[in-house]
Amino acid sequence: MTFESLGLAPALLRALAENNYTTPTPIQIQAIPLALAGHDLLGGAQTGTGKTAAFALPLLQRLVEGNKPATGPRKPRALILVPTRELAVQVADSVRSYGKHMRLNVTTIFGGAGMGPQVDNLRRGVDILVATPGRLIDHMERGTAKLDAVEILILDEADRMLDMGFLPAMKRILGRVPAQRQTLLFSATFESQIKQLALEFMR
Ligand code: AMP
Repeated sequence: MTFESLGLAPALLRALAENNYTTPTPIQIQAIPLALAGHDLLGGAQTGTGKTAAFALPLLQRLVEGNKPATGPRKPRALILVPTRELAVQVADSVRSYGKHMRLNVTTIFGGAGMGPQVDNLRRGVDILVATPGRLIDHMERGTAKLDAVEILILDEADRMLDMGFLPAMKRILGRVPAQRQTLLFSATFESQIKQLALEFMR
């Protein structure tokens, strides 16, 4: 199995080769074709399985394929929700690395850091926003993060977000992104709360 046979675009294949990725992992083989086809998806995968690329590669490709003419500062077209600041930084680095031959802008927002620089970054225009739920709510309330242009939503490590008490924040965020969107949920476990979330908010 190769990345090419999964249907990925040349710009992504180039970046993968530069990262010395030769063979897709099992979660990548299973998730990438379905996500590229626009399906919602529940992915069971732990850290270390290559789950980040499993959602980041199709996300990048779908954003580039569905490219819209820019009118004013860009609002996020993809939102990646993660439980922690560390994961936000790591996921954003991966997305930038896989998307280095594409002209897409990636920004992180998370708690425990100043609002000012995050507000400036949002104001400058963002294609892909990587955020922790609590801080994203702060930005939504201040009107500095607008979610009405989100086409793709990723919930990464959904079980950890629930363990950390983010369910109310996640539900508020899910209620503010357009209903017409693609949703990918990744989790190491699928307890009943996750299943309920999926039933309520995914197709
Ligand atoms: P993740 O599970 O997304 O945290 O990824 C674990 C590690 O595996 C990261 O350091 C990735 O850069 C790396 N990785 C992901 N997919 C591949 C692949 N297909 N080939 C080689 N390394 C990979």
